[in-house]
Amino acid sequence: MPEVKLTEEYGFCFGVKRALEIALKNLDEGVKFDSLGPIIHNEFVVADLKNKGVEVLTELHESKKDHILVRTHGVPPEVYTEAEKFGKSIIDCTCPFVANAQKWAKRFYEEGYLVIVVGKKDHPEVKGIVGHTDGKALVVSSGSEVDANLVRNKRVGVVAQTTSRLDMVEDVLRVLVDLVSELRFANTRCNTTQKRQEQVEKLSREVEVMVIVGGKNSSNTRRLYEIASSNCKKAYLIESSDELMNEWFYNVNSVGVTGGASTPPEMVEEVYYRIKNLLEGGVYGRGKVNEGQ
Ligand code: SF4
Repeated sequence: MPEVKLTEEYGFCFGVKRALEIALKNLDEGVKFDSLGPIIHNEFVVADLKNKGVEVLTELHESKKDHILVRTHGVPPEVYTEAEKFGKSIIDCTCPFVANAQKWAKRFYEEGYLVIVVGKKDHPEVKGIVGHTDGKALVVSSGSEVDANLVRNKRVGVVAQTTSRLDMVEDVLRVLVDLVSELRFANTRCNTTQKRQEQVEKLSREVEVMVIVGGKNSSNTRRLYEIASSNCKKAYLIESSDELMNEWFYNVNSVGVTGGASTPPEMVEEVYYRIKNLLEGGVYGRGKVNEGQ
């Protein structure tokens, strides 16, 4: 009998759940606000909030409302100063794991270390962390990006983007250890991310097809997809069950399913059940997997 397995954990992570609860509580209390960037990388959730009056902005001063929501990714300190200048109050949904990374980067910087952030330079969370070092931190995503001339014989403090893969961090630390005079590392990876990456690592080794559900622009979802692709020849990243294709599952006996931290659990479950119905029914048409097949 073909088998479809879900990872032990999927759906909204702690930080995303918390941010959505804060946003909905404020809306319930009649507080009108806009969001600096989409609250999470999920277009369905963002559209739902838009219907409730929450606009997504790139600049704080564009808002006509008195309150601005800062999403889980956090922001550089200048944003708080700017909010004060424009008389706006911040609804702070920075995930506590991200706040911890910001705190460590600031601490290392103030103690005179050269700060290195392991992560993606253009990611909003990383920009926020770098902002806590007056913009001085270096960002690298692998050991090969470490510029020996900039770090040689320096005291270096390393923090990680919360969603970075363990192997990326280890790679950077391995290179640094031979170059620097002192090396400190604050393990600022989020434990939800860590656990989910481990579960995907394990499941994607056991199945023939692995399906990851989540926003294609979501960093944590993309990491899950990268891990799945490295273990499983047929790994797919989809945003909703409508993207499932019949041909992915011909002659397949085992499928793994999971979702990113900003994917509602019911969307992951919908994908799971559609695949399960398809495999158990054994009816493969061409094109998309239809509900009830
Ligand atoms: S993935 Fe981790 S760091 Fe990111 S929002 Fe969720 S709990 Fe926070």
